[in-house]
Amino acid sequence: MDNIIQGISNFRGNIFPGQQKVYEQLVRDGQNPSALIIACADSRVSPEHITQSGPGDLFVCRNAGNIVPPYSQHNGGVSSAIEYAVVALGVRDIVICGHSDCGAMKGLMMPEALEKMPNVAAWLKHSQAASRIVCEAYPADMDPKDRHRALALENVVVQLSNLRTHPSVASGLARGQLRLHGWFFEIEKGTVLAYDGEEGGFVSIEENIQIKVAQAPSVRVAAPEFARAMSVAAE
Ligand SMILES: [Zn+2]
Repeated sequence: MDNIIQGISNFRGNIFPGQQKVYEQLVRDGQNPSALIIACADSRVSPEHITQSGPGDLFVCRNAGNIVPPYSQHNGGVSSAIEYAVVALGVRDIVICGHSDCGAMKGLMMPEALEKMPNVAAWLKHSQAASRIVCEAYPADMDPKDRHRALALENVVVQLSNLRTHPSVASGLARGQLRLHGWFFEIEKGTVLAYDGEEGGFVSIEENIQIKVAQAPSVRVAAPEFARAMSVAAE
C-alpha cells in the first residue's frame, strides 16, 4: 500500500500542477470521452495506458473477463455504464477489450478451480457461448495454450453480441451512430489486435492502416420504407 500512497503524493505534488488546467476545464465543461471501453479488471490491462489516453478521454468499465451481460430487467453496473455512456455522454465508439493470459478465461476452462468462488463461476456463465464454440467448433486435440487464446478471442465476439441486446446500443446501431470494436491486448508483446467483423479474425492495430471495426456505422432498420419517410419528413 506504501507505493500507492507514494503515488498519490507524487501525483498531487509533481503531476497535477502541470495538468491542473486540463482538470479544471474538464470540471467546467464536463466530460466528453471519445469511447466507452469495457476491459478486464486484470491489473496488467490498463486501457488508459495502452491507448496513451489522458483524463477525460475514455469512459472505462472493467470487470473479470471483460463481460457484458445481455440486457435484462435486472439492474447491473455494466448495463448502467453502457446506458450512461451512450445516452448521456453520446459516445460513438464502444470497445470490448480482452487480453492474453486472462485468468477469467482460465477459470472458464477449468470450472473445478472456481469451487470456492461461486460469484465468479456465476459471472462467467455470460461467457458460456464462447466456451461452447471452442469445444464444438475447434479441433478437440488443440494445445491448451491455443485453446485458451481461442477462448479469449471468442469471448470478445460473444460479448459484442451481448452488447447489441442493450436497447441504447441497438438503437444507436439502427441509427448508424455507433461503431463497435472487439480488441485483444497481447500483454507479452504490447500489441493490440482488432476484430474484423467481415473477415472474422483479429488483426494488429497499426498506425496509418485503417482500423478494423467489428461493426461499422450504417443505418440498419427492418422497415426502411418508414425510416425513409421519417428522414424525408425531417428535411
Ligand atoms: Zn482477464
